[in-house]
Amino acid sequence: MRVVEPVVELARGLLTTFRMMLDKPVTIQYPEQKKPVKARFRGRHVLKRYENGLEKCIGCALCAAACPADAIFVESSENTDEQRYSPGERYASTYEINMLRCIYCGFCEDACPTEAIVLGDQYELSFTDRRQSIYPKEMLIEPVLADVKLTPQKTEPGVYTRSVPEMKDPQD
Ligand code: SF4
Ligand code: SF4
Repeated sequence: MRVVEPVVELARGLLTTFRMMLDKPVTIQYPEQKKPVKARFRGRHVLKRYENGLEKCIGCALCAAACPADAIFVESSENTDEQRYSPGERYASTYEINMLRCIYCGFCEDACPTEAIVLGDQYELSFTDRRQSIYPKEMLIEPVLADVKLTPQKTEPGVYTRSVPEMKDPQD
């Protein structure tokens, strides 16, 4: 009896190992293979543009005020029709996020009146120096499509007077 029991246990163990060998592997070969993130995933921020290339950010700093980690720094400057970055009077001439402070709560996204700041799907954030953790506007701003002009743009006077776009449905 003392001999049979260990043999049976060994056979059960080997059977489990054999069964696992036939199962589909769950390991992902990162970074060659990447798993898609969930729809509500909050990754690195992106500063959005309108379709015509103008920046959605109007430099109001509401995101900075809402941030519980004091991770955002915004400095705004005046737009002109000769040199327009965003609709309305002002644009963010400096926009920085300290990624070491950020806790990815999404409060900045909620506070933004123009939906300019969005937490995207990028999660590959690595740096070897604390200073590299401060992402400037140049790193955060969305790239433009090939046929769209970069900012600043020369625009027609009196067209881009509203900083915040009119809402089709205010309940939205
Ligand atoms: S996600 Fe939260 S912590 Fe990060 S910058 Fe936005 S408000 Fe601040
Ligand atoms: S991202 Fe939004 S809330 Fe922040 S400064 Fe720009 S417009 Fe204002």
